[in-house]
Amino acid sequence: MNCQEVRILIDGYVDGELDPIRNREVEQHFRTCPACSTVLNSHQALRAALRTGSLYRTAPPALRNRIRSSFKPAPTRKSLMGLPQWRWVAVAASLALVSVLTWRAVPFLPTETADDQLIQEVTASHVRSLMVTHLVDISSSDRHVVKPWFTGKLDFAPSVADLTEQGFPMVGGRLDYVNGRAVAGLVYKRREHVINVFLWPSAAAVETRSLAHQGYHLVCWTQSGMTYWAISDLNSRELQEFVQLLQSPSSH
Ligand SMILES: [Zn+2]
Repeated sequence: MNCQEVRILIDGYVDGELDPIRNREVEQHFRTCPACSTVLNSHQALRAALRTGSLYRTAPPALRNRIRSSFKPAPTRKSLMGLPQWRWVAVAASLALVSVLTWRAVPFLPTETADDQLIQEVTASHVRSLMVTHLVDISSSDRHVVKPWFTGKLDFAPSVADLTEQGFPMVGGRLDYVNGRAVAGLVYKRREHVINVFLWPSAAAVETRSLAHQGYHLVCWTQSGMTYWAISDLNSRELQEFVQLLQSPSSH
């Protein structure tokens, strides 16, 4: 297994999602490759920070009480499927809590589980690219360098646009892993703001959609058989301008 394959699998490894054989191959690689070990350490540090740090919120007592008091006491002790009554109350309470939190985090979107997960993944990839000093694998502002770099690394040829003249210079490209597959990551800049664009083939056709998540603006669309996600801390007006430029056929 080479470094590139290992980098794609690191998230799955950290989350304990790899099958035993893959897991062993990746571990073997870490033992012999200091570079990948360093990346692994930063992924683990990020994971630990997300679990224990200030991002974790405990529900305030008032909210807990309100959810608890909204359930009527059960008339009988036996419940559906033999689960004790209190377990069902716990399940319902956590679902209610999740929907409250999701609604607060993604105010512009109806609750769609698959979408929510994708939004989380795209945001996590964006944040990771900024934190782990792994913004790009290939550093170039020339699309004639970046586009061929993906050849042989992905099972599709991403379309790479040059938007330097329009004020969005390209920084480079990166392999990433989103939605259960290897995807192309294209990195652009507007002043000091980094814009990550993730793209991969998909049969779905959706209209351009903008949303906000964890302080980032995201735009998602499909074009020429590809799903695109753009994400940045750039203001939403300029990000939409960027997306319109990407969508225009003259930029490809
Ligand atoms: Zn390596």
